[in-house]
Amino acid sequence: MIFETHGHYDDEKFDEDREELFARFREEGVELVMNIGADMTSSRNSCKLAEKYPFVYAAVGVHPSELEGLTEADMEELLAMSRLDKVKAIGEIGLDYYYGKDNKEEQIKWFERQLELAAGVKLPVVIHSRDAAADTLNILKAHGDIEGGVIHCFSYETEMAREYLDMGYYLGIGGVVTFKNSRKLKEVVEYAPLDRLVLETDSPYLAPVPMRGKRNSALYIPYIAEEIAAIKGVDISEVYEQTFANGKALYRIK
Ligand SMILES: [Zn+2]
Repeated sequence: MIFETHGHYDDEKFDEDREELFARFREEGVELVMNIGADMTSSRNSCKLAEKYPFVYAAVGVHPSELEGLTEADMEELLAMSRLDKVKAIGEIGLDYYYGKDNKEEQIKWFERQLELAAGVKLPVVIHSRDAAADTLNILKAHGDIEGGVIHCFSYETEMAREYLDMGYYLGIGGVVTFKNSRKLKEVVEYAPLDRLVLETDSPYLAPVPMRGKRNSALYIPYIAEEIAAIKGVDISEVYEQTFANGKALYRIK
């Protein structure tokens, strides 16, 4: 039982073999997939995938690196999408000061706008935060009406993990935890309780060792789960079971 809590299977890199890949997911124990929107087009496509495949759910939202040309009319459309049955979260949304040093104000504006939207429809949020630890935390703290969510591809220190865990957020752990230079993330995984971690890929990106550089998919989640099991000194089956339950609790899937 694997819950892939963050993938971009609407990406064109999956156009050729999406059907076969999803069939293999089922054979390999990937029972649930959350497909994540990153701009308006991928949010729409995310809804379409969720409509077509019973085991796929959708998140809709606009990533901080995809803000160009975004309008209030787009927010209205996101709102309409968020009311669909299989849309279970708003995201990915957040701040990225690694790629966007020059438009911080704009990023903050749309981040807050989408947080408001999420609070209004009572959906959890999928947070993307890169090199923007303090601002992300302060903004989420200021939006106490948010229904929780996940800090996806968690990349900060243990101290920051503690803050988010205290606020009730889950931490998304993906391929990076298998990288040799990921000491910081391994420490976070050791520190955080297993019942607050979820498995994710960020497919098609960030494939784990030994598949680094290849097209990522949920078929590689076992490498991530193995690493987490080793760090926490538990059986891999416990990692699958607990993170599956966590994913369902996070996205409120029955
Ligand atoms: Zn993503």
